[in-house]
Amino acid sequence: MKIVILSRKSSLYSTQALADAGREAGHDIQVINPLRCYMNITSHNPSIHYKGEQVTNVDAVIPRIGASITFFGCAVVRQFEMMGVHCVNESIAITRSRDKLRSLQLLSRKGIGLPITGFASSTQFTGDLIEMVGGAPLVVKLIEGTQGIGVVLTENRQAAESVIQAFQGLKANILVQEYIKEAKGSDIRCFVVGGKVIAAMKRTAGKDEFRSNIHRGGTATQVKITPEERSTAVRAAKIMGLNICGVDLLRSNHGPVVMEVNSSPGLEGIEKATGLNIAAKIIKFIEKNAKPGKTQTRGK
Ligand code: ADP
Ligand code: GLU
Repeated sequence: MKIVILSRKSSLYSTQALADAGREAGHDIQVINPLRCYMNITSHNPSIHYKGEQVTNVDAVIPRIGASITFFGCAVVRQFEMMGVHCVNESIAITRSRDKLRSLQLLSRKGIGLPITGFASSTQFTGDLIEMVGGAPLVVKLIEGTQGIGVVLTENRQAAESVIQAFQGLKANILVQEYIKEAKGSDIRCFVVGGKVIAAMKRTAGKDEFRSNIHRGGTATQVKITPEERSTAVRAAKIMGLNICGVDLLRSNHGPVVMEVNSSPGLEGIEKATGLNIAAKIIKFIEKNAKPGKTQTRGK
């Protein structure tokens, strides 16, 4: 098969791992930087060009679209879809997953457990907003933040109010969320491929930190998840319409709650923590599922 990995850099761990796994399985792998693609979107034969040449005969695309290039990256994925190429995660699902508010609304509609979460754009009635989600301590987060940046724990009501107002003053969109204290600075990353959790790890925050992101100094170990956690992760992936994703859960007193669903989950942390070859499993999934012409968008 000819498989395109859409990624800004072939030297990134995840990109490299996917390329290696694909080549090992005998496929023709091309890493393409989406920002350098240009496209003819009007022709009867929609096309993508890269470095002066047309990209043709592609059987499957693995999008690795970073948060900072969502807009153009998803446009390139969409163009492959218009050409009838199987994209392992579809553009609409990637776009959806990048907006935490939209994602949580969709998950909530289907009864997925979530931390109590509020949203407001106006700076009026901040006090009432805080009440509505159960009062401090609260977590305030930027809607389009990533790697734990823009996630703040506010210990008391006064701090919560100032942080919310500061973000709103900057015209930033934020969520205000119940702090799941009992998670004790740990979260669970379930790695879902094709409707199955193929690996799971527990990430634990470093000292004096509540965010367990590896980028924030968190450490990861393999973890055995409960059947409820497994089904929550699988359902969340399905609702988002993502074949490949990382579902981040917190272990709360009222069962697993989903924090977010990541459409370009990193492979390094999970492969190192579990010793599994995740990239090879992704390639296997593509071998089974990449059928041309089936590029209609899914998800709810
Ligand atoms: P990002 O998308 O930037 O990683 P997250 O929403 O995943 O942002 O939050 C980063 C980290 O902060 C999480 O991995 C988790 O450890 C911690 N965290 C986030 N929200 C909560 C919450 N409501 N309660 C407790 N801890 C939280
Ligand atoms: N089809 C979904 C719905 O009806 C799309 C929602 C979305 O991704 O925003 O809600």
